[in-house]
Amino acid sequence: MTDTKFDYYAQKKHAHDHGDHDHAADAHAAIEEPREGPPSEFEIMSRAMQELLEAKGVITAEQVRARMEQFEEDLPYRGSRVVARAWVDPDFKQRLLADGKAACTEFGIDLEADRLIAVENTPEVHNVIVCTLCSCYPRSLLGMPPTWYKSRNYRSRVVFEPRAVLREFGTVLPDNVTVRVHDSNADMRYVVIPMRPAGTEGWDEEKLAELLTRDTLVGVTTPGVAR
Ligand code: FE
Repeated sequence: MTDTKFDYYAQKKHAHDHGDHDHAADAHAAIEEPREGPPSEFEIMSRAMQELLEAKGVITAEQVRARMEQFEEDLPYRGSRVVARAWVDPDFKQRLLADGKAACTEFGIDLEADRLIAVENTPEVHNVIVCTLCSCYPRSLLGMPPTWYKSRNYRSRVVFEPRAVLREFGTVLPDNVTVRVHDSNADMRYVVIPMRPAGTEGWDEEKLAELLTRDTLVGVTTPGVAR
């Protein structure tokens, strides 16, 4: 509940200041600081442990990320179903790209923001979503934003070094792919339409939706078919 309350206020502030990003950084700082103090002893210990286990080859960053994502998957992500539809229905995809909010109403989803912008990954362009100021996120599609999405680390670094951040999620993009980072705000939310993986020909929407995890729709990972 605290989280919801916090975010509501942050978004009100954000809506207010929207249009010019400099100002709102200060407005947000006052709200966010108490949430982002120095890491606790447990955080430091768990990070150290993860680094050690990774260094020794016991676990990979990808495994840790996947496990954390699984923890979040107590609710089915509605965004997965919307994007799976876009994969199988070109007309729906056009509607989603033209007006994401309107397209979502076809699923009975009432988006919380004024606009939803769907951005499509292609062999040339990879899209990533952030809210550099707080935690604006397409909640009606993806649920609550994950902790990393709200972290200052992600918010600041993904803009300046998106490839490095993506690598930490286990996502390595070819050099010729352009990475576009989209900054969300209270009025405008984004969702990524990933590329449909090869080997999924003939899959139905339900099966395709399982590939469309939260992180793929934020753009920090890409969907893949296990071989
Ligand atoms: Fe925000």
